[in-house]
Amino acid sequence: MNKDWKIETRAVQAGYEPENGGPRVLPLYQSTTYKYDDAQSVADLFDLKRDGFFYTRLANPTVDAFEKKMASLEGGVAAVAVSAGQAASMMSVMNIASAGDHFVAVSSLYGGTVSLFTNTLKKFGIEVTFISPDADDDAVRRAFRPNSKALFAEMLANPALIVLDVERFARLAHEAGVPLIVDNTFPTAYLCRPFDFGADIVTHSTTKYTDGHALCVGGVVIEKGGFDWNNGKFPGLCEPDESYHGLVYTKNFPAAPYSVKMRVQYVRDLGNGMAPFNAFLSNVGLETLHLRMERHSSNALALAKHLEQHPKVGWVNYPGLKSSTQYALAQKYLPNGASGVLCFGVKGGKPAGEIVMNSLKLAAIVVHVADVRTGVLHPASMTHRQLSDAELAAAGVSPDMIRVSVGIENIDDIISDFDQALAKA
Ligand code: PLP
Repeated sequence: MNKDWKIETRAVQAGYEPENGGPRVLPLYQSTTYKYDDAQSVADLFDLKRDGFFYTRLANPTVDAFEKKMASLEGGVAAVAVSAGQAASMMSVMNIASAGDHFVAVSSLYGGTVSLFTNTLKKFGIEVTFISPDADDDAVRRAFRPNSKALFAEMLANPALIVLDVERFARLAHEAGVPLIVDNTFPTAYLCRPFDFGADIVTHSTTKYTDGHALCVGGVVIEKGGFDWNNGKFPGLCEPDESYHGLVYTKNFPAAPYSVKMRVQYVRDLGNGMAPFNAFLSNVGLETLHLRMERHSSNALALAKHLEQHPKVGWVNYPGLKSSTQYALAQKYLPNGASGVLCFGVKGGKPAGEIVMNSLKLAAIVVHVADVRTGVLHPASMTHRQLSDAELAAAGVSPDMIRVSVGIENIDDIISDFDQALAKA
């Protein structure tokens, strides 16, 4: 791959280079295992003394190509593809925090991530402190403890659509000696690259715009490279791993110690790597990422502007609208488009909103976001149902909120559909 290629070219071509006479399209290697001529080669693979594939639970050529493309798009050194966005969030923290440790998270997160951090990681002995996205620097500093290992946030929060001030949070994370982990699911690398603003780890639910067609569930964790893991807080990366005969990740794999550790310890032991077929589909999805994100963003902005002046609409939240509290941050971090998700409330509250949702014809009610088809969802009773009222408020979810995932259909058809549904409310 030419390292000067722009992001559109890398979305199409990065990750896979056919050999002379080889298949032009990334093949699906649907095989759990790989053949070797001598036993020593396999032993060396087990000892991480050489690169290669020996068992698909750890690595597979199709998944590997997808990981390389994701790392290239985000500008990172390595990526690990996993079974779901949930696995990506969990692994990104677990890789550097164990029982007795703590981390800080910005509260405006996807509901599933809030549950994972509040309930499941707590059962593993890892504690979280949530901070408001508006917390001032001192409030963020106060949230860190001596045993804190990370700061976690969403680049464009689902569904509050709060834009992360990445530069500020990266500075505060680094002051505390921990990496900033950014879930970049909604913008994707095409609209924003958090590494360019100081983030250290990026995660995605690839189920969303990466796949883009609602075909498969997946996740990925990407490492920027260059974080100082030797600051005394991360013994798991800097001390010998007895399960690999005393290997030290920061010494033996200095370019990407975090990713190597995640794969050879956790993906190996937990078995939650991405399946080859899902990597194959997700790679095809990425080939049109740039075109889709442009159209998702322009359609969402047009629908947001239309709804904003509609007499039956009480409020609209889209970071690309001048009226949005997030507009200035969106101009800085998402100058090429604010992605395809908007939220709005119908005058008359939840009951009127339900009539609108039930009356839509082109847009479907789906528990999904970020695919080519327009869809709607009611976060308070669906994706964020497990959250308490206080958690809902912290996540920016009001009872009347309708979340629209604006697809790439013709914008006139999308607007007509909302108009005819609003007419019934
Ligand atoms: N992160 C964000 C921002 C999400 O929106 C979601 C799911 O909606 C997830 C993570 C979890 O991803 P998955 O459903 O692929 O497990």
